[in-house]
Amino acid sequence: MLDYHVHALAHGEYSYTQDWIDSYLDWAYQVGVHEIGFCEHDEFAPLVDMEVYHSIRGSARHDIRVRLGIEMDFVPDREEVMPKSIQTDNYDYIIGSVHFVDGWGFDHPDHRSGYDERDIDEIYRRYAEILMLSTASRRFDIVGHIDLIKIWGHRPRLKSALAYLDPVLKSIKYHGLAVEINSSGLRKPVGEIYPSPDIVERMYDYNIPVTLGSDAHHPRQVGLGLVEAYRCARRAGYQRCVSFERRVMTVAPLKY
Ligand SMILES: [Zn+2]
Ligand SMILES: [Zn+2]
Repeated sequence: MLDYHVHALAHGEYSYTQDWIDSYLDWAYQVGVHEIGFCEHDEFAPLVDMEVYHSIRGSARHDIRVRLGIEMDFVPDREEVMPKSIQTDNYDYIIGSVHFVDGWGFDHPDHRSGYDERDIDEIYRRYAEILMLSTASRRFDIVGHIDLIKIWGHRPRLKSALAYLDPVLKSIKYHGLAVEINSSGLRKPVGEIYPSPDIVERMYDYNIPVTLGSDAHHPRQVGLGLVEAYRCARRAGYQRCVSFERRVMTVAPLKY
């Protein structure tokens, strides 16, 4: 089992110490995760202690493979400054995520009312448009929680979420990216994995590679919901997932 979406620093409340990272590996071992990818939000990336990281990667505690990723916020006008602020060569993979629609942080509980102030189909249309730009930016390896816009349970009315995202999936295929199956939606009001089963099925039809991620923000969340994510992938037809080392994708059997 692979968990490629783990935040050791959460939203800045923890420190990057050997003991703290070891507690993630200990829990990963408990729940059967054999490969763990730490991917801090880009704003916290400078707080990663690379000395600690390299010692953990080299120590192979519990024989767990350790990878270093980063979760980058994709903001259309900001894309030019991202490579300068972050040394992307240090990473095994880069997850590109959309958390903002034109300055509105839609997934934050404090900004949930934004859904009442906008037309839901316009929200999905614009969200898909920004995702499309992110996939074409050539800066990422993995698309993060691709239908995060459903987080509070809002669904489009004019057409399905899949219909909005289908052109994005085609772009993902064209640019050779992977999509993560992210179980954190199970812990949110929507109560559903990102992406929904119909989107995962379409991804399979397009032969888009997948990774798995819990979006853990605490050691005890490592691996959480990944059995469901695994089943979701298998139901769509997937028998393989992918892993990354130094930005190179490798196919691996999908198992747990
Ligand atoms: Zn995210
Ligand atoms: Zn995350």
